[in-house]
Amino acid sequence: MDFRLTDRHEALRTEIRACIDAHIDDEVIARAHRTGANHCVELAKALGDVGLLAQAMPGEGQDPMAMWMLSSEAEKAGAPFDSVGMALVIAGVLNAAGTPSQNQRVTAALLAGEEFVCFGLTEPDGGSDLPAISTRAVRDGDEWVINGSKMWTTMAQVSDWVFLLTRTDPDAGRYGGFTVFIILMDTPGISADPIHTMSTERSNVTFYDDVRVGDEWVVGEANEGWQVVSIMFGFERGIANTGALTPLLRRFAQWAAHTGVIADPVHREHMAQVAIDAQVAELLTQRTAWTAAVGEPSGTQGSIAKVFATEAYQRHARWAQAAAGPEGLLGLGESGAAAEGWIDHDVRHSVPQTFQGGTTEINRNNIAERHLGLPRAR
Ligand SMILES: Cc1cc2nc3c(=O)[nH]c(=O)nc-3n(C[C@H](O)[C@H](O)[C@H](O)COP(=O)(O)OP(=O)(O)OC[C@H]3O[C@@H](n4cnc5c(N)ncnc54)[C@H](O)[C@@H]3O)c2cc1C
Repeated sequence: MDFRLTDRHEALRTEIRACIDAHIDDEVIARAHRTGANHCVELAKALGDVGLLAQAMPGEGQDPMAMWMLSSEAEKAGAPFDSVGMALVIAGVLNAAGTPSQNQRVTAALLAGEEFVCFGLTEPDGGSDLPAISTRAVRDGDEWVINGSKMWTTMAQVSDWVFLLTRTDPDAGRYGGFTVFIILMDTPGISADPIHTMSTERSNVTFYDDVRVGDEWVVGEANEGWQVVSIMFGFERGIANTGALTPLLRRFAQWAAHTGVIADPVHREHMAQVAIDAQVAELLTQRTAWTAAVGEPSGTQGSIAKVFATEAYQRHARWAQAAAGPEGLLGLGESGAAAEGWIDHDVRHSVPQTFQGGTTEINRNNIAERHLGLPRAR
């Protein structure tokens, strides 16, 4: 592939950076960590107003490079962007598989940056093994009645919608009998309890207790939901959540300059390695986007980008903590914390990064089987 960007993409990147610079400052970032929601309405609306979300929506006929650029620039700036990234993925899925009225009502609001959506897929017995989920939707007259619960419904507390995977025909085989719904979060019977993670991020367990919805909220065909989530996985993996090394290095370098540690050649060499790995992660992610842009399957490239970026993030965050000594163990808001607690935050944040959105082991299996042609190990 050719890693050079076209003039159009360079211009797009400049526009994205300007929008992020205008709406993100230290206080906006701190607010996201205080509240546990990686979410900034002002940034989302600004990106929506200038049409950047519509350009970045994934899907056929769209420009995957635009989604990559938007995610990459937001991550490098440390901007609260997860809710926008999730909205883009579901907008793309609805655009590909939803009805005209779903697109008019939901996709338009997501792309305007005015409404948000959470992913209701994982359950206690179905994360990597998603076909094992047991949340049921049962037909009752001309409605569906949904009962069950979902784990790790991140962003549920700020979302207007949930993209919900249910089982509608348990006898239809491993990948048959699923139905996906897009449902308003204030529908009677839906509730959420917080799960506080080891980093600042809040996730949720969500409950669905006799939730009644009509056919108009089925995404794609009833009982064909696996095809719908497969579209989603194609959009989700390897284009986002690969840019955390840049803010880690920026904050470590500021701390190292402030304390004088930067003069130590051992630390300088390691900082250079972080910069190299940040660049490799960026290029692997760009390659994923480019592969999708030329119409080829990009899932394996996405697995490679995700495994490399998240493992490098975890490795370098731990190195930074060791380099910072006892102060590196102090967290955000704690007096005397190295880099104001960001190093400790990065160590914590880097752990769930290696399993949310597909664990490292699952991605390694994918690379082994599809990229290296190794036999299935199970
Ligand atoms: C902070 C956070 C936010 C999340 N946000 C969301 C969200 O918004 N919406 C949502 O639906 N989900 C979300 N998830 C869920 C996430 O996608 C799952 O945690 C992930 O898919 C792993 O599933 P699991 O937790 O059930 O672990 P399991 O699947 O039980 O895996 C446990 C361990 O076994 C390994 N393993 C499992 N199967 C295999 C295999 N076949 N081969 C080799 N090793 C294997 C895994 O790699 C892992 O190490 C989130 C998770 C976290 C931690």
